[in-house]
Amino acid sequence: MAYVVGPACVADYSCVEVCPVDCIRPRPDDPDFDTAEQLYIDPVTCIDCEACVTACPVEAIHAAAQLPVAFASYADINADYFRGPR
Ligand code: SF4
Ligand code: SF4
Repeated sequence: MAYVVGPACVADYSCVEVCPVDCIRPRPDDPDFDTAEQLYIDPVTCIDCEACVTACPVEAIHAAAQLPVAFASYADINADYFRGPR
């Protein structure tokens, strides 16, 4: 189980600063930083520490197993971000 960023994300980067394995993208030096609609968590690298959940000011991060039904597609949306060329 990994964590998933949902549509409430306002891209304030609080989660990026606390993630111990640096698995949340894009970062300011990534090419799509200016155009990304939200941030995404790499499910392969995430170690399920929950640090990002506490840091997020808008409760946009959910455990994959506890995603609200309306956000079910966001598990794939997060994972897909890391499948393409970066
Ligand atoms: S749960 Fe931990 S490892 Fe996973 S994205 Fe959040 S801060 Fe990073
Ligand atoms: S802390 Fe929450 S709102 Fe801020 S970038 Fe991360 S997921 Fe988005």
